[in-house]
Amino acid sequence: MAIRLRLTLWYLLILTIVLALVAAGVYAFVSSEERRAVDQILRERSGAFTRAFTGEAKEQEREQAMIEVARDYSRGDGDLFAYAAGGQLVARSPMRYLRAADARSIPDLRRAIDAARAGHGSMVTVGDVRCIVTPVDGSGKADYVVVFTETLAGKSSALGLIRNAFTIVIPAALVIAALGGYFLAMRGLAPVAQMTEAASRIEAENLSDRIVVRNPSDELGRLGTVLNALLQRLEKSFQQQKQLLADTSHELRTPVTIIRSEAEVTLSRERTEEEYRAALEGIRSEATHLTGLIESVLLLARADAQQARVDRKPFSLTDVIRDSVQSLRTIAQARQVDLACTTDGPMPMAGDPELMRRMLLNLLDNGIKFTPKGGRVRLDAHRAGPQYVVTVSDSGAGIPHQAQEKIFDRFFRADSARGREGGAGLGLAIARWIATAHGGELRLLRSTPGGSVFQATLPALNPSSS
Ligand code: ADP
Repeated sequence: MAIRLRLTLWYLLILTIVLALVAAGVYAFVSSEERRAVDQILRERSGAFTRAFTGEAKEQEREQAMIEVARDYSRGDGDLFAYAAGGQLVARSPMRYLRAADARSIPDLRRAIDAARAGHGSMVTVGDVRCIVTPVDGSGKADYVVVFTETLAGKSSALGLIRNAFTIVIPAALVIAALGGYFLAMRGLAPVAQMTEAASRIEAENLSDRIVVRNPSDELGRLGTVLNALLQRLEKSFQQQKQLLADTSHELRTPVTIIRSEAEVTLSRERTEEEYRAALEGIRSEATHLTGLIESVLLLARADAQQARVDRKPFSLTDVIRDSVQSLRTIAQARQVDLACTTDGPMPMAGDPELMRRMLLNLLDNGIKFTPKGGRVRLDAHRAGPQYVVTVSDSGAGIPHQAQEKIFDRFFRADSARGREGGAGLGLAIARWIATAHGGELRLLRSTPGGSVFQATLPALNPSSS
């Protein structure tokens, strides 16, 4: 069932209960007030009757006095029955409210009359007729008992009015409230319908479209804002993937073309064994380059999809640093670059040592690659409070100023003249992702024509015991 209909029905149910309770309360209050007024009238009537009888009884015989006073009073409102001490009916008015020739034919009244003969007056309700049963001139035992009646129905029009008002007003109020409630629910939920429509129109091709948020501070506005933020993230990740795919295809083309032409040229005629060996060597080198590129792209793609796992196991950062430096020592020597490192104890941290090694290799490899013969590359790692600071510095030519803020972008190479030796431009993007995935960060501290300094900060395993 639609929410607006459900809201309206709930609203109606609650309103019905409230109105019914109010109506019942008002009705009960007014009817008890009415009964009190009727009781008062009956008491006054029976009091006046008793006084009139007492006066009359002084002047004539008591039974005659009773008959005369009763005759007088039976002209007034309601029924009147007068009984002698023996129980026989001595006078009565014409039938008005009680449909009985003798009040004693009604069991409740008979009991009340018997009690009054013993001196106990009372009030009795028969249907909607209120009766007062009074002993008259009884000293301990009554000589006579009179019964006066008055109707409770329609005596005052108030109850009838209330009944009418409620039977018309309540249903009318409910109809108006239902219409109003439905209208309000529809108005209140209109933005949801708009959002649903807008969201259903958004597909991969128009991810840049946004849901229109009319009032960002209400609940639905906040929902719209959250959905828009979600769309923005989706769009960004979609764009990243698209860009990565485009750049990757572009980068893959060159090594694949080289491999193919190398093979084609070699196979175009008979070759000596050396020539075949040289060609295969070239193909192997390109294939290695290709493998590295594919691995890097896959890692970044998984990082984008938040799937690249970072195992959180404890390891010694110092061991990983020593290992990385060791594996690059031969290359550094071949290039006549001095490579050295300093560390600060075992430096335990939690994470993936393989990824950490990759980050360090990328930084050190760049340092060695971009430093001329006779230069030096230094790695310094030490603890600073809850984190480790790893600095990789070189004495190379530095990074041109305008390129500095782009070097962490994917497939960015500051100096294309350095050719393919520089790699595909993914090394720093991967290194930065690794630092971030470990809860740290990587930045270029400074780069001048005298050299560059990269700095990574990484959380230590037990920050409290620094
Ligand atoms: P690549 O794999 O091509 O080295 P990187 O992402 O590691 O890609 O580096 C991007 C670019 O940043 C490099 O092409 C290079 O121009 C520049 N760069 C990185 N490190 C250094 C460095 N230590 N000295 C000078 N330039 C550097």
